[in-house]
Amino acid sequence: MESSGVTSIVWLRDDLRLDDNPALAEAAALGLPLTVLFILDEESEGIRPLGGATRWWLHHSLTSLGAALEAKGSRLLLRRGPAQDVIRQLAAETNAGHLFWNRRYSLPERTVDAAVKAWAGGNGIEAASYQANLLFEPWTVRTGAGGPYKVFTPFWRACLADGEVRDPLDAPRNLPAPPEGTGAAGDDLGSWHLLPTSPDWSGGLADTWDPGEDGAQRRLEDFLGGPAADYGTGRNVPGVEGTSRLSPHLRFGEVSPFRVWREIRGRFPREVPADVGIFRSELGWREFCWHLLYTNPELATRNYRPEFDRFEWQSLGSDELEAWQQGRTGYPFVDAGMRQLWQTGWMHNRVRMAAASFLVKNLLADWRTGEAWFWDTLVDADAASNPANWQWVAASGADASPYYRIFNPVTQSKKFDAAGSYLRRYIPELAELDGKGVHEPWKAGGELRGYPAPLVDLPESRERALEAYQRLKDS
Ligand code: FAD
Repeated sequence: MESSGVTSIVWLRDDLRLDDNPALAEAAALGLPLTVLFILDEESEGIRPLGGATRWWLHHSLTSLGAALEAKGSRLLLRRGPAQDVIRQLAAETNAGHLFWNRRYSLPERTVDAAVKAWAGGNGIEAASYQANLLFEPWTVRTGAGGPYKVFTPFWRACLADGEVRDPLDAPRNLPAPPEGTGAAGDDLGSWHLLPTSPDWSGGLADTWDPGEDGAQRRLEDFLGGPAADYGTGRNVPGVEGTSRLSPHLRFGEVSPFRVWREIRGRFPREVPADVGIFRSELGWREFCWHLLYTNPELATRNYRPEFDRFEWQSLGSDELEAWQQGRTGYPFVDAGMRQLWQTGWMHNRVRMAAASFLVKNLLADWRTGEAWFWDTLVDADAASNPANWQWVAASGADASPYYRIFNPVTQSKKFDAAGSYLRRYIPELAELDGKGVHEPWKAGGELRGYPAPLVDLPESRERALEAYQRLKDS
């Protein structure tokens, strides 16, 4: 510890990485004894508790981060409780004079951060915050009239026109050691019970993912060196690895969007190929979702378009809801997606759209029912992207899919999984159906090893949805 005895704290949250971590880099450069802190805060007002799949991810990501910090001469201190209380207590224990963090953008989290900053200012502690997890902070992108954007294309155009994307920072070579005495006072990660037990359903997640910064870096390299070249078409085919699968890594900040941006520029210094440009605009959708959440903090609970408060959602029986959740609707494209979600914690985007459309349009269930299920089961469940996309599908959102766009799961699977490889992978009951029969198993006749008959008639349920949407429009 330096002679004055003053120390620093860096508080990591959705930025579980050493690379391009401005808060960590600044704290390291200051050179004071440094506590690297993560708080499990399930108590501060309004903070949405993590779902089961993100709890699993967090456990492994923190394990990986702890090891990476130790390799640099530091360690990760884990504490649990309302963040303000934890910080106050820790600052007193360590004689902290500096506090660093990277900014977050949900209202409850921003409220906590503002309160901590105010408290720090009143107590002689210098609190500094940085931009790390979004390329374009929500309040910096404004329409000509000075308001927030409601439509993606002009939003992204404005981002690209004005916004210089900074270069990422390298990970600090070494980190200052923690102040003496704080190590023992941390929680044991196991005591947080983030992993599922009785039953442990996480086997498929463990087979699929490698949480942590190294896993994120590998994904990025594999993607840019392979599927990125054909992303424009590959991204629509759920049976192949045509997308980056970076979403959970971005969700937890194991890779910085600035690093992704830089890697693309580095590989394509002259001109970004069209396919890679499409990938970059998907990163733009992530930014847009955060822009929407920032200006509509209740995006996960309230219709973005208030007229949808009058929409006649149907309350589903538990049988119908479970059939959707468990992938037993009788429509293979929907069911394969829902089973992929359950087994791996992730679902291909095209199938997410079809499965969500089936729930809110063919079954007329309130989009919040589906949002909650995805929140619990997705490893990339994200406070902005999940509700924004559900509202997009339901037509209640900003720049939403038109209400009359009802994904037909049979047409979708014939078009995007023509050979049925994705369907057969996740629905063993259909393994023996050859050729195109796999898209419409009810036409095969006979027993299908327990695969159910269709839950609803597609044309009828489509008509019912169109009528309900039309009534809303007319009312
Ligand atoms: P890629 O195609 O490789 O795209 C690269 C990155 O761009 C993604 O990692 C993601 O960060 C971002 N991105 C891509 N599409 C979108 C999109 N439509 N909206 C916002 N960001 C996007 N994405 C989440 O990250 N978290 C969620 O909770 C989430 N919930 C969704 C719910 C529904 C109903 C739907 C239709 C989509 C949802 N998405 C969500 C968006 C999208 O499905 C995933 O981001 C994508 O499938 C992740 O796979 P990938 O990393 O291979 O994507």
